[in-house]
Amino acid sequence: MAVLLAGASVSAMRSAKERDLAERWQIRTLEVLIETDRLRSASLAKLRGERGFLITDDRRFLEPYYQGMEQGAESLARLSALPSQNSQQQQRIATLKRDLAEFDATMEEMIALQRGGRKDEAIARTRRGDGKTSLDRILLTLDAIEHSERGLLAERSLKAKRLAVANERYQYALTAIGFLLLVLTILATIYVRQALDAEADARRELQRSASTDALTGLPNRRSFIDALGRSLDRAASDPARPLSLAIFDIDHFKQINDRFGHPAGDEVIREVARRASESLRKRDLVGRIGGEEFAVIFPQADLETAAMVCERLRLGIAHSPVVHGDAIIPFTASVGVADFQPGDDLDHLMARADAALYEAKTGGRNQVRRAA
Ligand code: GH3
Ligand code: MG
Ligand code: MG
Repeated sequence: MAVLLAGASVSAMRSAKERDLAERWQIRTLEVLIETDRLRSASLAKLRGERGFLITDDRRFLEPYYQGMEQGAESLARLSALPSQNSQQQQRIATLKRDLAEFDATMEEMIALQRGGRKDEAIARTRRGDGKTSLDRILLTLDAIEHSERGLLAERSLKAKRLAVANERYQYALTAIGFLLLVLTILATIYVRQALDAEADARRELQRSASTDALTGLPNRRSFIDALGRSLDRAASDPARPLSLAIFDIDHFKQINDRFGHPAGDEVIREVARRASESLRKRDLVGRIGGEEFAVIFPQADLETAAMVCERLRLGIAHSPVVHGDAIIPFTASVGVADFQPGDDLDHLMARADAALYEAKTGGRNQVRRAA
């Protein structure tokens, strides 16, 4: 792209320069053509004046003659002063100077002869062609100068045109490539965006699966303990904010596995998780912290409230049996609940909830027990 840009700039510069040159050459050519035309008419005026004077001896004819002399000299000076890079043209102008000098000298001689009363001699020399031959040469040289000048101009114009076309092509190519780059940039941006999105999705999924229990979809032990830690920090920093924790465990689960098989046991675990989620409040968080052991965080709930919700939870779990294939599997759970006490840390709180659960188990199962 940088190379193309540089190429386009150089091409534009060359094209502009050549156009400028072509314009200057055009002006120069016009100036040359004006001067050659003047030289032609001046030379003819000189000849006409000289002939008229020779034939009629009328001095009035000398006026155009002198005018021609003056105009011719001026034009020749201007023509010589015009810049020319062409050596052939310079040579032609030199030839022109010589021939004009010769022609002018002959004319002067004729007029001097006429003035000196030697008219016959002058006429005889004129008949011999004196002056005429140099005039013919002058006219031919003028034609050659004009022809060559037009040729040079045509050449320059053609070159300028070619460069302009090349420049135009460069600009088109630049536009096309610029457009292509734009499209590629857009595509690359979309691709990168999609790749980043996919990576973010994968990362989120990884995080989710690392913190989620595969069987129930509930938070696993690690993420549950993390959440409990955060809840404890909040409760510890604000004594007016109660916090309770429940741990519940399916009763005689080993027997379920033994009687109905492991897959049936899994189904019961899944159903317990589902019923627990249903019977809890939105703000409560339930997680699977062991094989058939679950725990619930009750934020902003004192022991009384938490125990009430746990009772609802226990009833919800035991509500109806699970049907697995031909088997009808009734099941219950025991719940131990404890509230956060000043000075409690995570282990203490868990241990007190566990102790309450143990009491529920030893007290006959399918019941809620509060920590002392
Ligand atoms: P208790 O009423 O005292 O709790 O009796 P229990 O039979 O439930 O006793 P325990 O908690 O010791 O038994 C848990 C059993 O749960 C042991 C283990 O084989 C089974 N178990 C643990 N994880 C899974 C699981 O993911 N799927 C199934 N199907 N069984 C599991
Ligand atoms: Mg257990
Ligand atoms: Mg059990």
